[in-house]
Amino acid sequence: MKRFIQGEHRGQSALLPESLDDYVADTNPVRVVDVFVDELDLGQLGFEGVVPAETGRPAYHPAVLLKIYIYGYLNRIQSSRRLERETQRNVELMWLTGRLMPDFKTIANFRKDNGKAIRGVCRQFVVLCQQLGLFAEALVAIDGSKFKAVNNRDRNFTSAKLQRRMEEIESSISRYLIALDTADRQEPAVAQAKAERLHSKIAALKVKMQELQAIETQLQTAPDKQISLTDPDARSMMTRGTGMVGYNVQAAVDTKHHLIVTHEVTNDGVDRDQLSSMAMQAREAMGVEVLSVVADRGYFKSEEILACHEAGITAFVPKTLTSGATAAGRFGKGDFIYDAARNEYRCPAGQSLIWRFSHVEKGLKLHRYWSSNCQRCALKDQCTPSAQRRVSRWEHESVLDAMQTRLDQAPEMMRIRRQTVEHPFGTLKAWMGATHFLTKTLDRVSTEMSLHVLAYNFKRVLNLLGNGALMNAMRV
Ligand code: SF4
Repeated sequence: MKRFIQGEHRGQSALLPESLDDYVADTNPVRVVDVFVDELDLGQLGFEGVVPAETGRPAYHPAVLLKIYIYGYLNRIQSSRRLERETQRNVELMWLTGRLMPDFKTIANFRKDNGKAIRGVCRQFVVLCQQLGLFAEALVAIDGSKFKAVNNRDRNFTSAKLQRRMEEIESSISRYLIALDTADRQEPAVAQAKAERLHSKIAALKVKMQELQAIETQLQTAPDKQISLTDPDARSMMTRGTGMVGYNVQAAVDTKHHLIVTHEVTNDGVDRDQLSSMAMQAREAMGVEVLSVVADRGYFKSEEILACHEAGITAFVPKTLTSGATAAGRFGKGDFIYDAARNEYRCPAGQSLIWRFSHVEKGLKLHRYWSSNCQRCALKDQCTPSAQRRVSRWEHESVLDAMQTRLDQAPEMMRIRRQTVEHPFGTLKAWMGATHFLTKTLDRVSTEMSLHVLAYNFKRVLNLLGNGALMNAMRV
């Protein structure tokens, strides 16, 4: 062992620093957590127990518990039991809490009972980022990512899944019944043992079937015809071609520093209805008048883009590629040029498609255009199998056209989007580990997500500004 760096002997008397403060370096992020929480107005944020009760056992101040959680999420310690253990052995936490060591139940209850206030703390940090001028570019990328809930796939039921399970059980029961008949023809001793085993298997399957029938009844009354038994708010969602029971977390991320400006946990598996609400929340959080948002084609919905336009938000969302004509090798709608002055389309054969009538389809007012010359057209085979090619135009289609022009002029937007949103989601999932969320129900999961987002933003700003500058900004 001679040629190695030597540690001290365990029996050696040591002159340890006299105060806990000496163990925590000036550059330690735990000092920033301390200042951040001390500067918050916890009462205004809605934390319970800011004013001590007049009677009963003294309670922990919410600041202590909030510091434990922020420290925990910054260091990938999210479970209340692990946090309890850390308060007893971790010098940084001892420094942060003044050697207070709440039990795991107290720690867990704090997160459970103060969800709204904790989400407010996350927003408060974004306000600080805004005051520090970190959102100068006023461009955010919006995206959603699926996070696993505390709900096994086997404990989530849709009508199709339930039907499949029932059919599997029925076929197993018939297989066992056939096996019973076969067993009857064997030696009595063997037959009896086999029959007992098969009867118990059939009985277990019948119990399972009754459970599924009870779930079927519940399923009829569920608004979205889906039930999750462990976490009732979790929903089955498609992600990268496979199913997952979880939540869809929406986030607006600023493109310059990759800070999460705003986020929302939903249990809606699709992103189509989220664009305008996320964009408006982002604009409010950033405190800017003018904002541009970029999102992938999963967010393309005419009404949402119109809502952004009417709110003065510039959207960059590529169109969804659903044209049946293009898929069949015929001219797509992009091949028809709209002439606003004449309110007509010009087709690839140079013919005018004039306005014919308007109608309402799925709540959208659409105008219909076609030409009377299609039957004599040399390009008809490339255009339509019908008598004439009809083109629809939404009454607010000019908003979509303007967006497409913007996208054509700024092709780098999609690259910026990808580079911006993949970073935070990837980091958060790596921190969360294989299980993602630890709590159940939408409200608690939202609180958990806010703590993750707060920790993520906290780390980013610490890296950008350093301890000293950030603490000074917090103290202003
Ligand atoms: S089929 Fe009709 S719409 Fe299509 S190119 Fe010919 S004239 Fe134009």
